[in-house]
Amino acid sequence: MSLIVKKFGGSSVANAEKVFNVANIIIEDYKKGNDVVVVVSAQGDTTDDLIDKAKEINPNGPSKREMDMLLSAGEQISISLLAMAIEKLGYPAVSLLGWQAGFQTDSHYSIARIKKVESERIRAEIAKKHIVIVAGFQGLNKYDDITTLGRGGSDTSAVAIAASMKADLCQIYTDVDGVYSADPRKVPSAVKMDEISYDEMLELATLGAQVLNNRSVEMAKKYNVELEVRSSLEPTKRGTIVKEITKMEKTLIKGVAKDNNVASISVVGLKDSPGIAFKIFNKVAQSKINVDIILQSIGRDGTKDITFTVPESDAEAAVAAVNELNDSLNFQTVTCDTSITKVSIVGAGMESNPGIASKMFEALSDAGINIHMISTSEIKISVLINEKYADAAVLAVHDKFFA
Ligand code: ASP
Ligand code: MG
Repeated sequence: MSLIVKKFGGSSVANAEKVFNVANIIIEDYKKGNDVVVVVSAQGDTTDDLIDKAKEINPNGPSKREMDMLLSAGEQISISLLAMAIEKLGYPAVSLLGWQAGFQTDSHYSIARIKKVESERIRAEIAKKHIVIVAGFQGLNKYDDITTLGRGGSDTSAVAIAASMKADLCQIYTDVDGVYSADPRKVPSAVKMDEISYDEMLELATLGAQVLNNRSVEMAKKYNVELEVRSSLEPTKRGTIVKEITKMEKTLIKGVAKDNNVASISVVGLKDSPGIAFKIFNKVAQSKINVDIILQSIGRDGTKDITFTVPESDAEAAVAAVNELNDSLNFQTVTCDTSITKVSIVGAGMESNPGIASKMFEALSDAGINIHMISTSEIKISVLINEKYADAAVLAVHDKFFA
């Protein structure tokens, strides 16, 4: 007998038929004598629809407290419907909101972090042989107000429960049957991985593979919770295991991902003297903007240019921050390009295999795609290209390594 945590995303519970499908998957495990705790997201597009409703009332953005109060309602609907479906099929279930399940968070509405899960109530329900259905994406802060964890936060809720209750299994169900080497809808030769390490998964999650929320992977790594990504449409099929992998795998490159949410900002005509880069990135950091790739040109005529990338949603704020420095730094211009995409290959052991980068560049060159910027780390190589060529680039690079 095991304690199993299962998480189902919004598309897996989008309508009554799908809710019953999920109920049956859960019951299968319960019938085998397992204790089952289930985390669910809001049905289908519910969260987006709620955001639209808020905009109808206040297009300028309502207070974050009220926004979280509203958005948490989506999960209240899905947990109760799922519990009803399980009851209808003749098995005992109880639904719990985040606070009832013991989710304590910090006070940052809309991006709250889980501090701990006091799992007494969940344990008490399990002791009564209930299947426990918990609302994902939500918790309670120290003011006893509802918070939400950021979009896609239900994955993190599931990992938090698995970590705090030391579950034997944490299964994340979605509408694909695992983690692939590229988006299988766009790259026909994409292959499913049996296993992937936390670090590789983190890169793929941040790079836009969109199977798991990256915070959930960080938490899983921290508490050593092994995850399995599975499909709710093919529930008996083995998925992809995400865990700590120490032995070097044969396939070096695990996957190719693209991230469209990137803008590059160039500060042109900076004085070529010490402290300039510090001033710029200190200013950008003060605006709480994450900088990813940084490139500094070779100086000429006593000036240099610095180009860096930020999430597209922060581009305007980054330009504004840099412009505030114009009086003291006296550069020529700041430009911002949002029509770029980051394409990356991910795999452990990259640094000891110099041929990998050239193979990637060759694929892009053969496809006639120009590279604007390059960055490398131990486990990934990223290039920035024009977003028009994003899909073509992923395909070309993927086929170079996998076909
Ligand atoms: N319902 C929330 C969202 O749409 C949380 C989640 O899906 O994980 O972002
Ligand atoms: Mg999701």
